[in-house]
Amino acid sequence: ALPAPTNFIRSAIDEHLANGKYAPRRWAGHPDVAQAHRAAPLDPAKIRTRFPPEPNGYLHIGHAKSICLNFGLALDYAGRCHMRFDDTNPEKEEQEYVDSILDSVRWLGFSWKDSQEDNLYFASDYFDHFYAMAEWLVLAGHAYVDSQNTEEMRANRGTLTEAGRNSPFRDRSPEENLRLFREMRDGKHAEGSHVLRAKIDMASPNMNMRDPALYRIRVASHHRTGDKWCIYPMYDYAHPIEDALENITHSLCTLEFQDHRPLYDWLLERLAEGKFFDKPLPQQIEFARLNLTYTITSKRKLQELIRGGHVDGWDDPRMTTIVGLRRRGYTPESIRLFCDRIGVAKADSWVDMGTLELALRDDLEAKAARAVAVLDPLKLVITNWPEGKVEDCEAPAHPQQPERGKRVFPISRELWIEREDFAETPPKGFFRLFPGNRVRLRYGYVIECTGCEKDADGNVIAVHATYFDDSKSGTPGADAYKVKGNLHWASAAHALDAEVRLYDRLYKDPHPGAGDTDHLASLNPDSKKVIRAKLEPTLAAALPDDRFQFERHGYFVADRVDSKPGAPVFNRAVTLKDSWGG
Ligand code: ATP
Ligand code: MG
Ligand code: MG
Repeated sequence: ALPAPTNFIRSAIDEHLANGKYAPRRWAGHPDVAQAHRAAPLDPAKIRTRFPPEPNGYLHIGHAKSICLNFGLALDYAGRCHMRFDDTNPEKEEQEYVDSILDSVRWLGFSWKDSQEDNLYFASDYFDHFYAMAEWLVLAGHAYVDSQNTEEMRANRGTLTEAGRNSPFRDRSPEENLRLFREMRDGKHAEGSHVLRAKIDMASPNMNMRDPALYRIRVASHHRTGDKWCIYPMYDYAHPIEDALENITHSLCTLEFQDHRPLYDWLLERLAEGKFFDKPLPQQIEFARLNLTYTITSKRKLQELIRGGHVDGWDDPRMTTIVGLRRRGYTPESIRLFCDRIGVAKADSWVDMGTLELALRDDLEAKAARAVAVLDPLKLVITNWPEGKVEDCEAPAHPQQPERGKRVFPISRELWIEREDFAETPPKGFFRLFPGNRVRLRYGYVIECTGCEKDADGNVIAVHATYFDDSKSGTPGADAYKVKGNLHWASAAHALDAEVRLYDRLYKDPHPGAGDTDHLASLNPDSKKVIRAKLEPTLAAALPDDRFQFERHGYFVADRVDSKPGAPVFNRAVTLKDSWGG
């Protein structure tokens, strides 16, 4: 295999490993917490990363970048990657999302389990530890209960150019803070009446260091801990502790968290002083989030699409959720290839949707069997073909892979061809069917167009042609015919009549919702077209998730939900060429 491309995260890891940062160490920490170290202590040369989604929605293509990065590094460095649900927020979290997230990570080809460890974690399992550490911070004078209301707190926070003001409650004694914090825990206070805050510096130029909130009161049921708690830890408090408890070495997150890193480090330093953790502590490293044109990578906006009925659910093939991409026909390999190609950088940028689509074409080119589909059928009658005669034609399953064998399908007197392959008066450069012109029926015979039939309104309803019986593809006479056009077709009496969904990009603007505009205003009205097509009869045997290249049209997949035995429904995954000029 080729060496993995390097990037600034790998350089950091290489340096940490070379200078022995993770030399063997003993976990001498706090007895309560030592027990919680379900992840084995570090091996000198092992890194631990984690993928920490909040179970409040389905994963999207942006998460795939993080998954490939975290699990990919663990694989390359023979380390471990933890699958962790960051489920510290009681609202909006559900088991449905947990199940779907696990399924998506597995489908992408990654595993959090090996012969020694099953690294599946829930941050909600650490609630007791978060709480115990908070009590220690209170007693050590590093945290206090603030009883200002939300407006007062906001007003006293200051601005980027103006220092904040200390809360009048900032100098409460540790004993009073502990008493109030316990009362908060015991449900004695209303939501919003008190918060636990870190005591750092209200004049810090970094707003995140101005006494950030650590715990808030929320009278809400949690999907795993039920009504046990009515105070919940803030993300900035919980996340570093989760990482440290699991012996994570490199905590990779997106750039928005760069300004939170001083708080991450401050908190772990304090807790190391409290003997909760030993050094080296986990290190947060930020990378650029994925922004992909013509789509959105935000769970909230994806929710809006569903709630507004703009798509048919989380797995709608136009959604860039993992389940949507899967149903659209994307393979795990194509998504991993895409993530490899885009790499990781330290600055935000946009990646063109064409890059994702190209990765799918590049993956399917060698994998997908070829087949014929007539998407906009027009009848072709071969007037000199004997009535009732049916003959077999042969085509390779894959033109570059003869070992995959041949497909066999019938030709007869009446065929379906694409409507756009006929013109009564041909435009300049048209070399398909028009009266007097010859073309080859792919894998069949050369025909010459003799005219067409029209209805009362002048619409063409059938094309007429004659065939040359010594011109069949693969026979010695075939080469004598020199024609430019090569048309695909399906025998009218034998074709499989099937539903085909022609999907296109969900948005017509490259940056939907940019500059605070409504992303819904950018929806592409033509993102889904349902048609009935005439397909090569061999496609009746297609199983859900089978992928094909429909010659000249693109890559299609038998829909994993709606296909029935003998009656597949196809989704267009991607056209053969980029029609968006990307
Ligand atoms: P969203 O903004 O869509 O709600 P999130 O960041 O809140 O996503 P989490 O469930 O917290 O979603 O994300 C889990 C992990 O995936 C985090 O480590 C996060 O940094 C990463 N991640 C989320 N979106 C992207 C993205 N667009 N590009 C790269 N990584 C991402
Ligand atoms: Mg989040
Ligand atoms: Mg987010």
